[in-house]
Amino acid sequence: MSNVTVCVRFRPLSSKEKRDHGDDICIESLDSETFTIKDEKEEGFTFSFDKVFYEKSKQADVYEFLVLPIVRGAVDATNGTIIVYGQTGAGKTYSMEGPNILESDEQKKGILPRVVDGLFACIRSSDESVKYTIKLSVVEIYMEKVRDLFDLSKDNIQIKESRTQGILLSGATEISLLDPAEALQSLSSGIANRAIGETQMNMASSRSHCVYLFTLNQESTTEKRVKSGKLILVDLAGSEKVEKTGAEGRVLEEAKTINKSLSALGNVINALTCGSPAKANHIPYRDSKLTRILQDALGGSSRTALLCCCSPSTFNASESLSTLRFGARAKHI
Ligand code: ADP
Ligand code: MG
Repeated sequence: MSNVTVCVRFRPLSSKEKRDHGDDICIESLDSETFTIKDEKEEGFTFSFDKVFYEKSKQADVYEFLVLPIVRGAVDATNGTIIVYGQTGAGKTYSMEGPNILESDEQKKGILPRVVDGLFACIRSSDESVKYTIKLSVVEIYMEKVRDLFDLSKDNIQIKESRTQGILLSGATEISLLDPAEALQSLSSGIANRAIGETQMNMASSRSHCVYLFTLNQESTTEKRVKSGKLILVDLAGSEKVEKTGAEGRVLEEAKTINKSLSALGNVINALTCGSPAKANHIPYRDSKLTRILQDALGGSSRTALLCCCSPSTFNASESLSTLRFGARAKHI
């Protein structure tokens, strides 16, 4: 079985889509793995993925299928990455956080609060002779610059590689997480800082990648050994195409940078799933800050989950198609 799982999630039609473009839906479900999507010319394309979450899917379904195995792996010192991809408004942040990171409705909670609960639950049920510590860093990548969301004065974090600890966000704040409630408060403060920084820099969250990095260290009191696992969650910048003619200046530069890093990500995942050892030597991690940060949590024995988020609206069919092609290419066998 491959270490890369690719799923698709269609959110419900939004009220804006219904109001502006009607109730037309471009997808037809065939089963829980396969569906057909029609483009604007009414041409149909059939796609299969590891699992398709349709409009009525629950946050818990996504978590249990795609995320929980990776959380369990991280507690066992296997690195993992969970990435949400898609055009702006497709449901990336809703899937990652829920309507709000501190959402109290259990059913609506997104991946992040479930990961926090899951990590602490796994630790509680693990062998008592193992002592765990969990640390969290939250950074944002904008125009190939990495910014610490726990300390906005650190606006140019360098990515380094250490022989013992692997890829490091050099100097980035690491918060020790002691219990789930406190962990959520920390996440929430990072997310709030993102908005502040954005206003200062005059950009929108859809133009940057947000990276949540959990490091789990485990120390066995009986065997005197230390193991560690990384769990990285990424809420990517919107994948939508920017009108070539309309965009200029910073907007165009942003679009080019995003495009470059998303293609780098696609190339890395594609190289990983290709399975040819010759290709495995040429995984292009260094092509973007994003893939560099993910280097040791993507590939090797690490597990990767990619959730491709799409609107079901006919109006957004071409963007959805492009998202699905990214997902299909990522898992090309
Ligand atoms: P993105 O982060 O991809 O730009 P959002 O996650 O912010 O998109 O989603 C856009 C809007 O759609 C939000 O108002 C969000 O609450 C809503 N939404 C997204 N996915 C779902 C879903 N699965 N169920 C209900 N509402 C959703
Ligand atoms: Mg978002």
